[in-house]
Amino acid sequence: MSQSTRSPRTPRKLDDATEQLQTKLLRLVGGTVGDYGLIEEGDKIMVCLSGGKDSYALLDLLLVLQRHAKVHFDLVAVNLDQKQPGFPAHVLPDYLTKIGVPFHIEEQDTYAIVKRLIPEGEKTCSLCSRLRRGILYHVATKLGATKIALGHHRDDIVETLFLNLFYTGKLKTMPPKLRSKDGKHLVIRPLAAVRESDLARYAELRAFPIIPCNLCGSQEDLKRKEVKEFLREWEQRSPSCTDSMFAALSNVSLPFLLDQKLFDFKALRTSDQTAGHDDAWLDE
Ligand code: SF4
Repeated sequence: MSQSTRSPRTPRKLDDATEQLQTKLLRLVGGTVGDYGLIEEGDKIMVCLSGGKDSYALLDLLLVLQRHAKVHFDLVAVNLDQKQPGFPAHVLPDYLTKIGVPFHIEEQDTYAIVKRLIPEGEKTCSLCSRLRRGILYHVATKLGATKIALGHHRDDIVETLFLNLFYTGKLKTMPPKLRSKDGKHLVIRPLAAVRESDLARYAELRAFPIIPCNLCGSQEDLKRKEVKEFLREWEQRSPSCTDSMFAALSNVSLPFLLDQKLFDFKALRTSDQTAGHDDAWLDE
């Protein structure tokens, strides 16, 4: 376990293309932060850093936001070193020391636990994710973090929506803000409205030292891969359909779904003149 508490260095001037993209991403992140109340005065935000493009971008954008925000909040980057073979343990500490961000590396051999408990050839992601979540919550408590920031983006959210629709019979996805089951933690997703392709471009422009994500040797989640492919094909046939699906998540019409727990269909009468409870949308 190692830790650093140096204060952030003044960033170098960006080139025009990077600055333009950064401005676009900050607008989206700022909108999500404001709309969902993700950051408040005095927060200590633990930014989970895996070494992938999304989490690097998350930290980078939150650092810019921190310099310009009206509220004061602290950031601490946390990486969980799961002891996967070949994990380049020096990359994140070197990067974080260079940019002067306080950080904590939690070393826990979840790789060995997963290998011991899951028979060869079976999927390891479910147990691995559960272990990782528990450890990160524990670290958040230890560091006194008030929020835990994750790098999930718009495409993750739409994919999860479809995974739930296809395989669980539930209309739900990853929200921008979520309470943990024990009520002790708040998980936030400031990149919720950001496209994955923009994050990939941003990571390239900012030359983040990316750590490969296949070190554990587990196969990629096949169902998620299929949904990703399905959405990619639809996007080709109907450009912007992912934008539309994402927008739909903030435009829910309960009278036009079937959930009797959320809308009282039995009580609906012709005398109910509430706007949005009628069939006017059919004329649109
Ligand atoms: S891909 Fe590997 S590291 Fe990631 S959740 Fe699955 S088992 Fe864990």
